[in-house]
Amino acid sequence: MEEDKGRVNIFEDTMAHMTYVQVEEAAREGAIVLFPVGVIEEHGPHLPLAVDVYGSYLRSRAVKSELQKRGIKSLIAPPFYWGINVATGSFGGSFTCREETVISVLSDGMASLKSWGFDQVFFINHHMDGGHMKALDKAIRTARSEIGIGAYLVIDSFFLKGLGMRADEPHLLVHESLFPSGPPSPYLNIHAEGYETSFMWHYFPELVNLEVLRTLKPTNLAFKDLLIWGKGGMEARKITPQGYFGDPAMASPERGRKEIEAYGRAAAGIIEAFLQSHYRPPKNSDI
Ligand SMILES: [Zn+2]
Repeated sequence: MEEDKGRVNIFEDTMAHMTYVQVEEAAREGAIVLFPVGVIEEHGPHLPLAVDVYGSYLRSRAVKSELQKRGIKSLIAPPFYWGINVATGSFGGSFTCREETVISVLSDGMASLKSWGFDQVFFINHHMDGGHMKALDKAIRTARSEIGIGAYLVIDSFFLKGLGMRADEPHLLVHESLFPSGPPSPYLNIHAEGYETSFMWHYFPELVNLEVLRTLKPTNLAFKDLLIWGKGGMEARKITPQGYFGDPAMASPERGRKEIEAYGRAAAGIIEAFLQSHYRPPKNSDI
């Protein structure tokens, strides 16, 4: 264990490293809570299963630090990772839970926060599987009505349409899309590709297998492939035999740092606007 001394872990800078005294004091001060949500899921032959957990954790830390600059106190809940994996479910290591399990655990987490005096919780999610999103959405809606907590999902406008969500729903905080603009490419970058490989490379280089990364070719898959992939099973596995969807070679550590920081600014920006009562959702017709 000696070699693990000082290494970053996903409790660092979260509530899990605070004392109860600090937690109670933060609740009295009106701190908001950021709730990182990911899954344990295969991420190709070059990345570990926990990429989405690290992604939601890094995003939450970036948001917390941006909020701090704006004078807003926030705490990060312990990262959640027992979500739903359909697309990659046929690969070893892609743990998947029943919808009711996800809803129960998240609801109980929110009920606990509420009982300690926290009134507002913002979910920072890093996993866009349709079934997972449905469970997260239901958990937030249910907690709002049954627990009476102000729960919100922070989401990139790019995903709303595909998930059948409306931008003006009261539990959604929609930020501008961070996906690169420009002429649409026929090939999609979806999973364990340039984006995910980049932030892992920058923040957790010891967890990226660079030797394998150098051998990976782009998958050159299009939207029609995504529809089949999303349904999971062996058909999905045939489409992405190595478990990634996109071009991992587009990755660089610098890109990883920039994209996590950009997320922090975008998400903190809408949370700040919301807390100051001037958040306006984009028009459904604009996204
Ligand atoms: Zn992922």
